[in-house]
Amino acid sequence: MLEASELRERRDAVLERITAAAGRARRDAAAITLIAVTKTWPAELVIAAHEIGLRHFGENRPEELADKRPLVEAALGGDSGIVWHLIGPVQSRKSGLAASHADAFHALDRSKIARRLSNDLSQIGRTLPSFIEINISGEATKHGLDLADWETDATQREILRTMIRHTAELPGLSFSGLMTMAPWDVEPDVIRSVFRRTRELSEWLRANGAVERELCLSMGMTDDFEIAIEEGATHVRVGRALFGERVR
Ligand SMILES: *Cc1c(COP(=O)(O)O)cnc(C)c1O
Repeated sequence: MLEASELRERRDAVLERITAAAGRARRDAAAITLIAVTKTWPAELVIAAHEIGLRHFGENRPEELADKRPLVEAALGGDSGIVWHLIGPVQSRKSGLAASHADAFHALDRSKIARRLSNDLSQIGRTLPSFIEINISGEATKHGLDLADWETDATQREILRTMIRHTAELPGLSFSGLMTMAPWDVEPDVIRSVFRRTRELSEWLRANGAVERELCLSMGMTDDFEIAIEEGATHVRVGRALFGERVR
């Protein structure tokens, strides 16, 4: 785990890069949420990161979130201002953990999971703002609803609209926006087009009455968050740039 001084330096460097990218796009950097991705790292790292002012944390597995959150709350109390983002997929049998421990969910891509979460959330009286994960690049390994041809394929758009409607209507869930990931190992132009097309899709949804307000866009990680911000990201999910390489 990093020393506190190095953690500060890394945080400052990331915040500067966010500000610079926002500036290039004439956007307000304050409107961009930095989600510090703490997966694989111990609760102590979250506590150290909270100490230097970070408040949004990202975990990709419900079990790990369910283990870590109580440890952090035991140290900092329940009113630490921390917002826990679950950024990875949820399997049906883990929906209860997600419902109890996540404050936001970024990887909704199946109606079955939406219904399970809704059930679990209703029982415990929580609300989970959720992003629908979309696959824009068409890469076979990616999770997410297939929107690789959304500009020309009305069926893909209709499936997304239906999923948005269900998410908005199901008790316990609320619809925040779209989440996407760029493919690995491709040219910056390809990455940029994935993020740009995601933003254009969110604009299309609004122009066509599927949503009433501007959507949040969860996109950009350590290797591409600046491009994502230039293309409209409202939430960036950054791990390695803040905390170093993960060991596992
Ligand atoms: C791990 C992870 C990140 C952060 O990745 P880094 O490359 O460490 O910034 C972002 N989003 C998701 C969905 C992840 O699983």
